[in-house]
Amino acid sequence: MVRKKRGISRRTAVRLVLAAVVLMAALIYREAGPPPLEKSSGKLDAADSGGAAEGRDGASPHSAISGALSGQAHPGLVVRGSSQPMPFVGLPPASPEGRAPVSRISGAGVSKAKAMPAPAKNRAAQKTVYLTFDDGPSAVTPKVLEILRREQVKATFFVIGDQAETRPELINAIWEQGNAIGNHTYDHNYKDLYSGFTYFWSQIKKTEEIVRQITGVRPQLVRAPGGTYGHFDDTYFHLMKQAGYLAADWTVDSGDSVRRGVPAAEILKNSVQDTQSSRVVLLLHDGAGHQESAKALPEIIKKYKAAGYVFKTLDSSSEPVQFKPHPDKRAAERTKPNEAWIAANITPNAALFAPGKPLAVEAGTLQTSLQPGEYRIENGQYIVPLRAVVERLGGQVSWDTGTHSGLAVLNGRTITADTDVGELAFTAGDGNRGAIASEVTLRGGAIWLPLRDLLKSAGHRLIGATSVPEERRVKAS
Ligand SMILES: [Zn+2]
Repeated sequence: MVRKKRGISRRTAVRLVLAAVVLMAALIYREAGPPPLEKSSGKLDAADSGGAAEGRDGASPHSAISGALSGQAHPGLVVRGSSQPMPFVGLPPASPEGRAPVSRISGAGVSKAKAMPAPAKNRAAQKTVYLTFDDGPSAVTPKVLEILRREQVKATFFVIGDQAETRPELINAIWEQGNAIGNHTYDHNYKDLYSGFTYFWSQIKKTEEIVRQITGVRPQLVRAPGGTYGHFDDTYFHLMKQAGYLAADWTVDSGDSVRRGVPAAEILKNSVQDTQSSRVVLLLHDGAGHQESAKALPEIIKKYKAAGYVFKTLDSSSEPVQFKPHPDKRAAERTKPNEAWIAANITPNAALFAPGKPLAVEAGTLQTSLQPGEYRIENGQYIVPLRAVVERLGGQVSWDTGTHSGLAVLNGRTITADTDVGELAFTAGDGNRGAIASEVTLRGGAIWLPLRDLLKSAGHRLIGATSVPEERRVKAS
């Protein structure tokens, strides 16, 4: 008995030591590792007109970079500014129309992950997939959102400005579901976009403004139509970076735009060709005509989940995956912007993405916080999205299409935010009613209103507002 007992305690001791080592390793990694990715960091990255947007330029542009696999990190792919080599699987073929053959990657860095005792809890071993959808929003987008919601997965949508303009409610739906939105230019027309940087720039800024009007946040992530390869020259790369943007390519191409009507089975096969890499950025499309991509999506998600991946949205906390400049196009014969133009446009732009302050909201015993970009300051007032604030304070919001009103239940009160009249009408728990005039506005399908009016109508009494270097704060009892 004694021997057995000692045996157990020795084994327990060994286990404890092992557990401690694993824990310490995890803690050390956590310290050194990147900050958690959140949409709420305020750094974003974010239609059926005239057929598939990709089709506008004739040949399927995304086939320019096919998701071929190579046995090692391909020289065609670099992570700018990153000292850490990453196993990439994308490979730009020599010909823009070509599609390199697919072969199995030899899983660099994979065995380590499998050897870890608790891979799911170890960030070092955590494989991450970033689903990205280009060319929307379109009639396909709601289906994609439905699947993402059902699977509890988030994605990054690189939206086209003119599509966003005609379907702001879909931009809002993408955003409110916690997905990231990136900029995919205004009209996706290669010929003009790659004729010179200033024109490309004008489309980026135009689209950015459209998205900002809807979500309140400027997309910092940009995806070049067709990818950067063969399109961006050194000027494009350099000025976009200097202006504060992150040009994000991909590592795996689902092949859903190599021609029209690629069947779901083929999209699935291409999408899950590599489930070994620690980081997969998967290119998909939710533009018009891409129903098959939506059809393939549940199975794509299932396969990555089964392979142990977590799903994240792209954001500015890590360097984006980028294709190396095309050797012949590094200094393409395009007109370069002059210094005066750069000083006027590029230099001040980076400040738009400088970190701002979060806004903390205290309402009675509850507290929440809005990240920079999630609220605005207009005429000295904090303007906030109704849904985000109410839901984070434990309330509920619904939308009445007939009266253009938001119905919120917060702090025991029922509040009607009327965007037509510009009024907040409330009914208290004891049946008392009241109303206050308020600049309740509808922006891209979301209701925005002054924070103080919202708190007042919910029966909170304002105590004060403060601003320190770390944060802004509004207190109400
Ligand atoms: Zn595209």
